[in-house]
Amino acid sequence: MDEARDTLPVLIVGAGPVGLALAGDLGWRGRRCLIIEQSDGSIYQPRMDFVGVRTMEFCRRWGIVDWVEHSPYPRDYPQDNMYLTALNGYELGRERFPAMQDEKPPPQSPQHRERCPQNMFDPILLQFCKSLPSVGLRYRRRLIGFAQDENGVSAEVENVDTGKRETIRALYIVGCDGAASKVRETLGIAMHGKPVITYTTNIIFRCPNLVSLHDKGRAYRHIFVGPEGTWATIVAINGRDQWRMSIIGSGEKKDITTADIQAAIRRAAGFDFEYEILTVLPWIRRELVAEHFGQGRAFIAGDAAHLMSPTGGIGMNTGIQDAVDLSWKIDANLAGWAGPHLMKTYEIERRPVGLRNVAEASGNLGRMRSPGRNAALLDDTPEGAALRAQLGREFTAAMTREWHTLGIHLGYRYDDSPICEPDGTPVPPLDVMNYAQTARPGARAPHVWLKDGRSTLDLFGRGFVLLRLGRDAPDGKALTTAAAARGVPLTEVTLDEPDVASAYERKLVLVRPDGHVAWRDDRIPPDPTRLIDRIRGALA
Ligand SMILES: Cc1cc2nc3c(=O)[nH]c(=O)nc-3n(C[C@H](O)[C@H](O)[C@H](O)COP(=O)(O)OP(=O)(O)OC[C@H]3O[C@@H](n4cnc5c(N)ncnc54)[C@H](O)[C@@H]3O)c2cc1C
Repeated sequence: MDEARDTLPVLIVGAGPVGLALAGDLGWRGRRCLIIEQSDGSIYQPRMDFVGVRTMEFCRRWGIVDWVEHSPYPRDYPQDNMYLTALNGYELGRERFPAMQDEKPPPQSPQHRERCPQNMFDPILLQFCKSLPSVGLRYRRRLIGFAQDENGVSAEVENVDTGKRETIRALYIVGCDGAASKVRETLGIAMHGKPVITYTTNIIFRCPNLVSLHDKGRAYRHIFVGPEGTWATIVAINGRDQWRMSIIGSGEKKDITTADIQAAIRRAAGFDFEYEILTVLPWIRRELVAEHFGQGRAFIAGDAAHLMSPTGGIGMNTGIQDAVDLSWKIDANLAGWAGPHLMKTYEIERRPVGLRNVAEASGNLGRMRSPGRNAALLDDTPEGAALRAQLGREFTAAMTREWHTLGIHLGYRYDDSPICEPDGTPVPPLDVMNYAQTARPGARAPHVWLKDGRSTLDLFGRGFVLLRLGRDAPDGKALTTAAAARGVPLTEVTLDEPDVASAYERKLVLVRPDGHVAWRDDRIPPDPTRLIDRIRGALA
């Protein structure tokens, strides 16, 4: 038997959004993979609901934007973030955001962010996976452990219903198995950071007419501030009749009873009303990043690799970026053109992004809790009003950073990656709120609208793309020949469009399969083979 040919190429553990995205991207590349998922796929309580702009760019690549736009989340639901003492209390501030139907893409992207809660987004990713013949999925299968050797991994998998165990042999295993990752545990990889920031309780309750019971109108997020500081949030989780309350809590574990929950809902509303509690989910807010993102033929991605406060909606989006980075590298190995060092670059590129994002998420939490104690907050006096006005101004200003994060979603870069060839230009600052597009090696290749209505981003994804920009762009033949000699898929695209030339700043730009720039210059490098060896991870 030819093991490399007959063995399952990739075993993915976990069918959360990151496992599904990885399987989808691999399947989109025509690679065979199998996801095992211990649950039956039903979602007890949706966690993520913010799909960032980069994730939407991936959805565009995969051809599933339309599915997200047609999810059941109402397109006309305003996305305002509001700061208040209670639904019938004082409004301290509000940052207005349009409903999805009116949201425009930023100039830096062909897509805009989306609101699509997990119980709508996971099924979309699942549908995408099911549309790909090379992707398999088995529910109610739990990874018990695995061993790896030079040629592959042997995973012990249990049927959760029958207890029967089987060994699945694969060339690679990827743990997209969340916070308590078995893959991470088996590899003995430690998590570093803050294991507990808060013990928080999330409650989803149903109340179809809540908006009509108060005067604040429709908003996506309500952040409740009391005399003791920020204590809870309520988000319009499905934009219709379901609301997710988070009782933020503290670093001290407390048992929350049904009576506590009812009191909290009443306090947030400021009045009694009828509702039905659907689910209650106690969870621990953490700030942790894995010491390593893999070992040998085993890798971790998503929450298995980094755990962060949900403030900012960064967690899943970071995980899907992991998946896209890992996918093309696994694909390159399976195709046989990867150099021996390519897989190591997964951790080199993605771990710094994980570290940056967990810190940003905690910073957002800090800003959300910044009001602190204000004993007179609810006083119906001129002093109370002045306090509320000042707090509202300061809080609104502080919170803005969480709502404008293009620098997080599009601005992450692989500056020090050994598979990107530096061009000698200085490292631009990493900003959170602002994002200036750059085609510097390591950065996401800029979006520019083309004359034919496509985005430059629509050119990337499958293999490498050599952009030849401008009428006098040098012949790319030396590079395409060097790539072909190494089996590296590379297509040449010639564009004579001034906007593209000015965004990319060089006449030749080499873009990787994940849409990041690998190299750029005005002339063909003196040793094209060396460049190809660098970008495929063949140079030590
Ligand atoms: C309240 C809240 C709101 C959030 N909002 C956002 C947001 O708006 N945007 C955002 O980007 N992120 C958000 N996040 C974070 C986001 O939900 C997570 O980052 C994301 O779900 C991680 O996806 P994952 O696929 O890595 O892991 P998970 O979603 O945890 O999925 C892991 C899967 O692996 C399975 N599994 C585990 N062990 C095994 C095993 N041994 N064998 C087989 N299967 C196994 C599990 O059953 C599970 O299905 C939020 C988080 C919370 C708590």
